[in-house]
Amino acid sequence: MQLVFLGAPGVGKGTQADKVSAQYGVMKISTGDLLREAVRNRTKLGLEAKSYMDQGKLVPDSVVIGLVRDKLVDPSSAKGFILDGFPRTVPQAEALATVLDERRIRLDRVINFQVPRAEIVKRLSGRRSCPKCQATYHMEFAPSKDGLSCDRCGEALVQRSDDQREAIETRLKVYEEQTAPLISFYDGKHMLSHLDSVGSVESVYQNLTKVLAVYHSA
Ligand code: AMP
Repeated sequence: MQLVFLGAPGVGKGTQADKVSAQYGVMKISTGDLLREAVRNRTKLGLEAKSYMDQGKLVPDSVVIGLVRDKLVDPSSAKGFILDGFPRTVPQAEALATVLDERRIRLDRVINFQVPRAEIVKRLSGRRSCPKCQATYHMEFAPSKDGLSCDRCGEALVQRSDDQREAIETRLKVYEEQTAPLISFYDGKHMLSHLDSVGSVESVYQNLTKVLAVYHSA
């Protein structure tokens, strides 16, 4: 099963990708996670990416394309993969098609997760993250037990710099300008399925697995 999860920040792609990855045994490749790991480890790539990420802007295509290419040639992706947050620009989508062609891998489906803008802003601005174990919470919808520290490791929760108001506005603008064109890009290739992603994680997951059933058994 080879999938792309497309959608604005905050639509729940990453959460759903974790669930699909666990159930179907396919690798989740999240460029956001890979970049955050590089920032934490203070690698050269991480240092280059950090200022873009803090502002909610896209990291240059060449950087993320290299990251994804490395993952796709890794034998652990042989059973399948979910690309979460990649591609985010038309040049990234074209580069992905080239890498997959070279490796004779077929992309099964692109899932477009849909959530209204006001709901996205609410989800992102209420998000709190653990800087130590990376667990995420939501102040209103999924708070930690005391609302301040991580249930798993006790670390004080923080708001990611790109979940602050100004960065959220930038991320949504960047999405509209640079990522939304991928909807017609993949629709034109008859690869796209739309998924209404409002509702509980479980109800969205139920609908998602119905869409995926046909590709899993294929
Ligand atoms: P995410 O966790 O997917 O929202 O990504 C967090 C941040 O990482 C984004 O706001 C971008 O700065 C950067 N990023 C993640 N994926 C990409 C991508 N495919 N292209 C460029 N920048 C990306």
